[in-house]
Amino acid sequence: MDQDDYEPKIVMSIHAHPDDQDFTVSGTLAKWAAAGCDIITVIITDGSAGSNDPDHSVDYKATLTSIREKEQVAANKLLGIKKTIFMHQPDGELEPSVALRKEVTRLIRRYKPDTVVIGDPQAVFYGNGYINHPDHRDAAQLALYATFPSAGTRLLFVDLVDEGLEPHNVSRVYIHGSENPDTWIDISDTIDLKIFALKKHKSQVNTHNVDEWIRQWAEEEGEAKGLKYAEAFKVMILEQQEEKPEN
Ligand SMILES: [Zn+2]
Repeated sequence: MDQDDYEPKIVMSIHAHPDDQDFTVSGTLAKWAAAGCDIITVIITDGSAGSNDPDHSVDYKATLTSIREKEQVAANKLLGIKKTIFMHQPDGELEPSVALRKEVTRLIRRYKPDTVVIGDPQAVFYGNGYINHPDHRDAAQLALYATFPSAGTRLLFVDLVDEGLEPHNVSRVYIHGSENPDTWIDISDTIDLKIFALKKHKSQVNTHNVDEWIRQWAEEEGEAKGLKYAEAFKVMILEQQEEKPEN
């Protein structure tokens, strides 16, 4: 598929922590938002483990959650994302339970995204230096299986239908952080927004050199396809988008 002219209308970006989306896919989300796409950000955990400051005791966790939620909303505002949903699961202790999959399924049936954006549930090791956070994998797994088969299967989580939430079929899943990407989105026009959005996560990001390594990262992703800056995905196509009528 390589470069991608797919035009999503409603996107749900589902991640574990505040800032995950902005490190990984915010260039693509900003591009889609600018084209008129409605984007819903779902953050599954409360982000309350995101500090190693010895002055921060357990009492600080609620404060940190509040700070990080404000940071995420501010980042989303920059990106053109109007809706942010926080699911408040304990940071660092996420489990891909069926109960939680049902909660994500509820959101998918309610907001009816045609496209879901997630991390790679298979990714454990990145190179020799980074072990993927288990929350990232578990969030990706929850979101993937909420998308398929749960969102579209009427007799799964039957009380959702009783709530008025009929089955919904998602057309595409965009998976970032895959070892085998097949789709590259040109983010040359939105990389500045990506950097600005990341800088909103002041409690997490050392803003000093964020420009440099986000640009380097995007250059590396784009290199394979001759793009200056890109984000790379593996894309699952579950339903074909309707053909645009010929003029
Ligand atoms: Zn994270």
